[in-house]
Amino acid sequence: MTRVRAYRFRAYPSKTTAGVLKTQLEVACKLYNTLLHAEQKEYEENKRSMSENELRQLALDLRKQNKEFQALHSQVAQQVADRFYEARQRFLDGVANKPRVKKPHRYLSLVYPQSGWKLSNWREVGQGKNKKRRARLRLSKIGFFTLIIHRELPLEQVAQVCVKLYLSGRIYIIFVVEDAEPLGQTLEQPKNAVGVDLGIARLATLSDGRFLGNPKPLERSLERIRVLQRTLSRKRFLSKNWLKTKRKLAKEHEHVGDFRRDLFFKLGALLAEEYDVLVLEDLNVQDLIQKGVTKKRRLRLHDSAFSEIRRILEWEFVKRGKTVLAISAYSSSRECFLCGGINQNLSLEDRIFNCPHCGFTLDRDLNASLVLLRRAGWVPSAVPVELRPIPPLPSLGLKKRRQGGALKQEAPSVRAG
Ligand SMILES: [Zn+2]
Repeated sequence: MTRVRAYRFRAYPSKTTAGVLKTQLEVACKLYNTLLHAEQKEYEENKRSMSENELRQLALDLRKQNKEFQALHSQVAQQVADRFYEARQRFLDGVANKPRVKKPHRYLSLVYPQSGWKLSNWREVGQGKNKKRRARLRLSKIGFFTLIIHRELPLEQVAQVCVKLYLSGRIYIIFVVEDAEPLGQTLEQPKNAVGVDLGIARLATLSDGRFLGNPKPLERSLERIRVLQRTLSRKRFLSKNWLKTKRKLAKEHEHVGDFRRDLFFKLGALLAEEYDVLVLEDLNVQDLIQKGVTKKRRLRLHDSAFSEIRRILEWEFVKRGKTVLAISAYSSSRECFLCGGINQNLSLEDRIFNCPHCGFTLDRDLNASLVLLRRAGWVPSAVPVELRPIPPLPSLGLKKRRQGGALKQEAPSVRAG
């Protein structure tokens, strides 16, 4: 089985190159919309949809006829057709909305499928622990980017190169690698299992009583996002100030994303080292959002994090040949771990679970993670009998945001509370 992996590196272009990239994104967006209109016309006139090859050919023809489109590398132009084709297929398969006219400020990436890119000028930079490699990437028709290659990149397996402009103005290059190497062997006799309850007040609560809270830097970022969102809503859509705030907001969002990803990978590695089986709730984020209508805004900040933490935890286990079980979370937070009774009166705000049937009292999320574990057919090694303060996970080695130029290591950032 081939797996697809993405290697993302920050890219630093010259001012000219950055300008060229922006223009090309606009051109690609225009090409996309031209294809969309051509397809609509074809459908109205002949009641048929164009095939992938027809769309690709059309993109190439348009490029031949139109000087503006010639700014794009031919394969990049073809890939624009592929992108439209895939969007349309998703619509026909019923999993997405009908492809619409794209707005230039939302068309943000170009893909070089096979050729048109080259890495050169490899150089070692930094010292000691910070040793990295630097390279120059040439994207045909766009220009040169300096890349900091902070991790090993299997160059021979690169199938695609994507250049992406983030809303914050940062540029990243994503190498898509096709990986044929098999995953770890699945363990025949898993010895232990951990249930994980994902939440908002705490990011993750483990059935062994440990938890991962929102670290301070993350909370600060989330607060900044709330403020910026309010500011943005007061600006006129697409005005200069709106764009400026939007960019600031995007930067903060990207920061939160990076921070969380780093945290989740560390948590995943830690759990996958200790446990053979990971039990997760088969969580429907939509449900959760609907349940907390009044807190919709607050929850929206978190919903993407839910799918990401799941994806990363799963990956860390599967990579090591360990098992991941997704268990129905249907009223798992209202079920009593001890007697199985349902606590109908438990609301989203209650942090403590009080069983009306047997009197069992436990932290709400801990109870939920234990219920999950039991539903998966596992018994926790030590059954908690009373409410006790649950300990946070040991420091996951979080990095603090750059301050005064130096990257400082923060002391245990995962706190009780
Ligand atoms: Zn009970």
